[in-house]
Amino acid sequence: MKKDTKIVSLGRGGEHAPGMVNVPVYHASTILFDTVAELNAAVAGRDEHILYYGRRGTPTQWALKDALTDLEGGDGCMLYGSGLAAITGALLAFLKAGDHVLMSDSVYGPTRVFCNHGLKRYGVETTYYDPAIGADIADLMQDNTKIVFAESPGSLTFDVQDMAAISAAAHAQDAYVFADNTWATGYYFKPLDHGVDVSIQALTKYVVGHSDVMMGAAVANERAWKQLHRGGFMHGHCASPDDTYLALRGLRTLSVRLERHQQNALTVANWLAERPEVHQVLYPALPGAPGHDLWKRDFQGASGLFSIVMEDGTDDAVAAMLDGLDRFKLGFSWGGYESLALPAKPEQSRTATTWESPGPMIRFHIGLEDPDDLIADLDKGFARYTRAL
Ligand SMILES: *Cc1c(COP(=O)(O)O)cnc(C)c1O
Repeated sequence: MKKDTKIVSLGRGGEHAPGMVNVPVYHASTILFDTVAELNAAVAGRDEHILYYGRRGTPTQWALKDALTDLEGGDGCMLYGSGLAAITGALLAFLKAGDHVLMSDSVYGPTRVFCNHGLKRYGVETTYYDPAIGADIADLMQDNTKIVFAESPGSLTFDVQDMAAISAAAHAQDAYVFADNTWATGYYFKPLDHGVDVSIQALTKYVVGHSDVMMGAAVANERAWKQLHRGGFMHGHCASPDDTYLALRGLRTLSVRLERHQQNALTVANWLAERPEVHQVLYPALPGAPGHDLWKRDFQGASGLFSIVMEDGTDDAVAAMLDGLDRFKLGFSWGGYESLALPAKPEQSRTATTWESPGPMIRFHIGLEDPDDLIADLDKGFARYTRAL
């Protein structure tokens, strides 16, 4: 099956929903058994699709897990109550005191907070690395390095990582490779095909796609699946059936939404790149942008999230620009159908590298509006920006 067929077909109906296009929402905690023999059979089969206990899932969750597993080419999928819970849950399924983690310097902020304040407390040490490191990650590997964590493109600065080179170096030392795949989703990038062992995403963003659900997923290959699965259930991770239903609904239209996000984002990014106020557009899909060649080598497409660096200017000028926008509103969680803007400060979080730019940064999520309206809105914004300088 090609991927467009997959997202429409995977996990649909089956024996639990004969004749129905969509799998029903099963609300369940207790599963009842009539006999000890049936109960024992459920215990024995609890890792398969056999009803055993609500936390272990029902046909609603199995449908989403099966679809995501197949889309990313993995052996299994765990669901979590948020994208961040997927990251922390997957890490904790593998790590123990004394272990070492290599973490990309442009990783999602809350992942960094978890490493610095959570993992540290459990006796796990984190070293941050330059996202552009590639095969040289080998120089940072220690005897106790258990996980190399990548995020490509990285948060705020959109650095594209050489996943195959990083994976090869990590595997040479027997470490696992995790990747946060939220930006591209399994539709535009398949980390497991590039050597990654665990691919994590905030379903909250593009899979749900309508800004109304928090959920996360981790898909693992054969090497990592057993441990991810055991650890996830040990910690009690599960996803609500109603939210899972909405994630499945979002998944069915992921291809057409992403395609339009990409098309609109390219239109707006190209316009922004020509503005005299803009120093640089950080959108890997844009020819000439940082990471464009690697993106072209590895990705099948781009989503609608990118940043711009201004030529010069102040935070007050950025506020004057953003405060008056009509089509864009300020918000953190992207991936919905609506456009968003946000002032961003990558220089405040990096430690392995420094981020230098001539002016402030703005992150945009380009939604499904007509790009002409978005551009007109930004055009007026630039006038306010210049007046406030
Ligand atoms: C939003 C985001 C997350 C966290 O997802 P939540 O569902 O908000 O917890 C993780 N990684 C990246 C790259 C994100 O953008």
